[in-house]
Amino acid sequence: MRFRHCVDEILTDESGRAVGVKGRILQDEEVPRGQSSTRVATGEFEIRGAAVIIASGGIGGNLEKVRKNWPIDRLGPKVPATMVMGVPAHVDGRMIDIAEGVGASVINKDRMWHYTEGLKNWDPIWPGHGIRVLPAPSSLWLDATGKRLPPFLFPGCDTLATLKHICGTGYDYSWFICNRTIAAREFALSGSEQNPDITNKSIVQTLRQRVFSSNGAVPVQNFIKHGEDFVVKDNLEDLVAGMNELMAKTDGVRLDYNAIKEEVEARDSQFDNPYSKDAQAMLINMARNYWPDKRSRVAPPHKLLDKKYGPLIAVRMNLLTRKTLGGIETNLSSNVMRTDGTPFPGLYAVGEAAGFGGGGVHGYNSLEGTFLGGCIFSGRAAGRAIVEEVLGTTGLQAKL
Ligand SMILES: Cc1cc2nc3c(=O)[nH]c(=O)nc-3n(C[C@H](O)[C@H](O)[C@H](O)COP(=O)(O)OP(=O)(O)OC[C@H]3O[C@@H](n4cnc5c(N)ncnc54)[C@H](O)[C@@H]3O)c2cc1C
Repeated sequence: MRFRHCVDEILTDESGRAVGVKGRILQDEEVPRGQSSTRVATGEFEIRGAAVIIASGGIGGNLEKVRKNWPIDRLGPKVPATMVMGVPAHVDGRMIDIAEGVGASVINKDRMWHYTEGLKNWDPIWPGHGIRVLPAPSSLWLDATGKRLPPFLFPGCDTLATLKHICGTGYDYSWFICNRTIAAREFALSGSEQNPDITNKSIVQTLRQRVFSSNGAVPVQNFIKHGEDFVVKDNLEDLVAGMNELMAKTDGVRLDYNAIKEEVEARDSQFDNPYSKDAQAMLINMARNYWPDKRSRVAPPHKLLDKKYGPLIAVRMNLLTRKTLGGIETNLSSNVMRTDGTPFPGLYAVGEAAGFGGGGVHGYNSLEGTFLGGCIFSGRAAGRAIVEEVLGTTGLQAKL
């Protein structure tokens, strides 16, 4: 493993086979995980080998690239002007361009998976750092103009359909309206540093913060206190005034109190009895049929305006970049394809650089949370193919 070695070039021999890489050795610098480190070079390197595997990740940390490849036909009418960054800056897609430069085929560039529930991190690790909220179903979801999102675009339901809907409004953000009880119970934050109880494997902390606390996990409390997207008020009129104050800073849409009140009351009226046929109310009741979710993930059904459940909270939800579903085209052995449709000798691509395998093996409507599987699977295919190439089939069988 050679850390601080940044690849700038893929080397090929006279036959067109990939035989190594060339690049810069970057100055050593101790920075926390995910933070950008210096790009000052202290030297150069060249490494040669039997094959080259590109495992350099997607393009989600490179807003310029995300914008350039934005699928206006699917997610129009315009390219979003503002997005928060859900991945570190080093996920810049540079190696995909470098591979394309030596003749690799790159496909489905416009397939991307971005989220709609992004918070500006009040304590950022990388530039424009955004944190995704993994929401459960109770919050009222309004578009930038204050209109409720239609069924079944409820929190936690269908990421790409919601992204399409929000982009269709012509704005880059939407609003959650909830209260302290819902935020405490239903806001899970994505990212290891936002889940210290789980990453430290502390069962006591996990139970204390996620099951027994009425304020939610400490990282969620910190966001409510410090996050610039949050407005916390005791009544709806003040809440809408607070949302408008936030909009005044960003030149966003000013909301009409009476229109928001109508939406909130329409939602709340569906919680007069447990037999409501409102789709969101049914979703909440159904989610609570699974006892672990009932205990830790989904708040008891209630009216947002019921003061017993704490102050009201409005959250501006930004678009957040994350995954690259297209990329370097490969065959089933993770062998990169050339633009003429033939395999590129010695060059392999795996993980997000190859759209989780193959140049988009998951398709466009991927299944949430299954991306790492594609990284590992395509890596395994590349490893096996290279061993077979180097040792031959018999050698591979001996190794297995
Ligand atoms: C907060 C967060 C939560 C996520 N949650 C989930 C989840 O729940 N489930 C799921 O399936 N997926 C999840 N993902 C996505 C998943 O983590 C990524 O898709 C996966 O890590 C991609 O793996 P990779 O090896 O292809 O690329 P990466 O993990 O991005 O690694 C690429 C590496 O290549 C290096 N590199 C890039 N260019 C060069 C170069 N020119 N020279 C040298 N080195 C280079 C980078 O520094 C980096 O170390 C999440 C991602 C984030 C950010």
